[in-house]
Parts: sequence; structure tokens; C-alpha cells
Amino acid sequence: MTASRAAIGAISSAEFLPQRVSLLYRLSGNDVPAILLTSAVAAFALWGYISDKLLFAWLIWLVLASLVRILLNRAYRLRRPGPEAAARWEGFFCLTSALIGTAWGLTVMLLYPERAEFHEILLPFVIGSVAMGLPPALAPSPKSFACLIVPIFAPLIGLLFSQGGAFNASAGILILVFSAVLLALYVSSNQTLIETLRFGQRVEAELLVAVQREKELSEMKSKFVSTASHEFRTPLATMLSSAELLEHYSESLSPPEKLNLLRTIQSVAKRMSELIDDVLTLGRAESGVLKLTPGRMNLLELCGKVVSEFRIAQGKQHLINLVDRFDLAEVDMDERLLRHILNNLLSNAVKYSPLGSEVTFSLARHDEQAVIEIQDRGIGIPEQDRPRLFESFHRASNVENRPGTGLGLAIVKKSVELHGGEISLASAPGAGTRFTVVLPLRPSERPVEAS
Ligand code: ATP
Ligand code: MG
Repeated sequence: MTASRAAIGAISSAEFLPQRVSLLYRLSGNDVPAILLTSAVAAFALWGYISDKLLFAWLIWLVLASLVRILLNRAYRLRRPGPEAAARWEGFFCLTSALIGTAWGLTVMLLYPERAEFHEILLPFVIGSVAMGLPPALAPSPKSFACLIVPIFAPLIGLLFSQGGAFNASAGILILVFSAVLLALYVSSNQTLIETLRFGQRVEAELLVAVQREKELSEMKSKFVSTASHEFRTPLATMLSSAELLEHYSESLSPPEKLNLLRTIQSVAKRMSELIDDVLTLGRAESGVLKLTPGRMNLLELCGKVVSEFRIAQGKQHLINLVDRFDLAEVDMDERLLRHILNNLLSNAVKYSPLGSEVTFSLARHDEQAVIEIQDRGIGIPEQDRPRLFESFHRASNVENRPGTGLGLAIVKKSVELHGGEISLASAPGAGTRFTVVLPLRPSERPVEAS
């Protein structure tokens, strides 16, 4: 019962149809030499024991059926139909199989002797199994198998039962049993094939992911080399020239000028160390070493601290507003990762908006989530750059000569993911950008690692 249901399921399944149909045609006719050889041996063995007419009809039919199968194979190779034509080609194969099967089924009915001996049943029996091209050849298409087997066996079984008599009835039952065995064999070859195709598909998908990852890594490597060399060369040149000025013109420089040069060296070195920190953080995140270590903390206080640090660093260059609608005293989050998120988003808002413009930082609670929004009135992000914005080293086409490596948002995204949160953005080029970060407040709602 279960086997027959599985068989029916297999017949109606459309899984891997293009691959199965291609296999069906490519296998078609490959077994012809073996079939003709075994049939010739069988015919020789049966010569003189069964009616000549039946024997010749069988051989002629076998040769014709083999020719048709070879022609099907050639036609498929010549036309090379695409996957969209698979159902049509399977239908065509089924029709041909049905015609071949019916031809033999009717021939047996016409030539079958009135009073049969067992060996005379054996012949159509052998013919049945051999002529079907054996189950493996038709394994790709249950429909084609059914189209061939039914017209071959049905008339013979019908004939045996209609003739009556104990001998005919037991021969009919024997052939029925044989058909069932054949069907079981067939179902198992079909399932093996489907499993093999599934396995192939899985391996292909895994390989594709690996190749894609490899490609991304090599792209990242080359982007890193070009960004790092640019980002290091300029500050290094500045440091070197400042140091040379201090060395050679120390006496002629005024104390404020000397201080200015020293501050330049300090700020450039700080920028370089930040860049190295970013690369290391991202490397740790990529390799899964960067982990979430949540602890009890006051989110509102942290946001206030980060905003004041920015206000001090910015002086009067930007107006940074803090809008607070957050009503929890403590949350369970990773302060270090939160600092990455807030610092990077705020530094972008400031960097990519004109001096004197307003930046709004808002914090709110929606049910069990903290929602942080950072809105600026800056240059905005062109539409075509948005899909790749969170990839490392990717910078939008409108940054002009603003410094940056394109690592900040990649780190922000990893940190948000480690918290089990989400980041999104809305932007209008020339009008401003709003980044929204949604973080769950409870650790239980978070995944263990970043994707
Ligand atoms: P850094 O590594 O120093 O942060 P970066 O700022 O260039 O360098 P990201 O912070 O990753 O790198 O940002 C990636 C890109 O996204 C930026 O180069 C910029 O083109 C765009 N971008 C990010 N935030 C904004 C913003 N608020 N307004 C306009 N463009 C932005
Ligand atoms: Mg940035």
C-alpha cells in the first residue's frame, strides 16, 4: 500500500524534471547492444520450442523498438531543448513508449497460441523484461515506465485470465507477481536517482557558497590593500613632514607652531590606530571571535555619554540633539558593542553632513525592543550604493574627499546582529539619512552569533 502510494507519488512528482528528462533521453538506446545480444541468445535457446511467428515478431519488434530509442536519443542531442521544454519532451517520450508497448502487447495477443505451454508464456515474459530497456534506463521518468509496462503486460494478463483454466490463471498470477517485482525494482531505482540528484544539488549549493565566499574574501583583500595603502600613506606622509619640520627648524618655530605640529602628529597617529582597531574588530567578527558579552547597563546614560563626547569633539560644528523616550533604567546589552554602533553611526552623521547642520539622536522603547534613530541633514546615500553599504570597504559614490575606509557600517552591522537586532536606513540624496537600529532588550530573544 505504502509502496504503491510512493510509486504514484513518484509518477506525479515534478522534482528535477529538466534533469530527469535530459537523463532519460541520454540513457535511451545506450543498452541496445546488450539487449540485442541477450535477446539473440534467448531466441536461439527457444528456437523450435515456441512458434516461429512469435519468435520473429519478437525479434523484429525488438530491433524496431531499439531503433526508436536510438532515434529519440539523437533527436534530443540535436535539438538540445531547454529546461522549459522538459514536460513536453517527457510527454513525447511517454507517447513513444506507449506506442512501442502497445505494438508488442497487441502482437502477443494476436500471435499467442490457443493452447499455450509454459515456455510460450516465458517468451513474452522475457520480452517484457528485456524490452523495457530495464528499469534503470527508464528510472528518470516514472510516467514513461508506466506508459511502456502497462500496454505490454495488460493485454497478456487479460488474455490469460479470459482464456480460463487453471494453467492460464496461474500463469496470469505469475506475470502479475513479476510485474509487481519489476515495479518495486523500478521504484527503488527511481528513488536512488532522485536521492542522487538531491545530493548533487546540495553539493552544488555548498560549492556555490564556498566559491562566493572565496570571491568575496579575495575582493575584500584587494579592497583592503588599496584602502589601507591610501589611508596609511597620507597620514604617514603628514607625520613624516611634521617630524622633519620639528627636527630641522626647531629653533625658528614658535612654541604654538611646534605644538600645532605635535598635535598633527598625534591626531594622525590616533586616526591610524583607529583604522587598525576597525580592521581587527572586523577580522574578529568575520572569524566568529567577536562575541556578545551582555551585562546590566543603563542604555540612556550610555547614549547621553556618547552624545556629549561628540558634542565636545565637534565644538559648534554640528548641533546634536538627543531625544529620549526610553523608560527603562537598565537593560541587558554589550556596552562595548553598543559603543561601536553609536560611535560609528554618529560619526557618519557628522562626517556626511554640512557644518552647522542638525543631527538628531533619538532613543525609544517599543515593547521589548530599544529603537535608536540617528537622523542627519547631509549628502544622503545614492540608491545604487545602498545594497552594498554594509559590506566592508564599500563607500558610496558621493563621498568626494571625506576620509574613511568603509569599515564602520560593516562593524555596526555585525554588532547589531550579535545583539539579535536589525539595522535599516532611509535616505534621500541631498536631503539626509536616517539609520534605525532595533535591539531586543532580553538576551533570550537573541541568536548566539552574527550571521
Ligand atoms: P569609516 O570606516 O571611517 O567609518 P566610512 O564612513 O567611509 O569609513 P562606513 O561608516 O562603513 O565607512 O560607511 C560606508 C559608506 O556609507 C560611507 O563611505 C558613505 O558613503 C555612506 N554613509 C554612511 N553613513 C552615511 C550618512 N549618514 N550619510 C551619507 N552617507 C553615509
Ligand atoms: Mg563611518
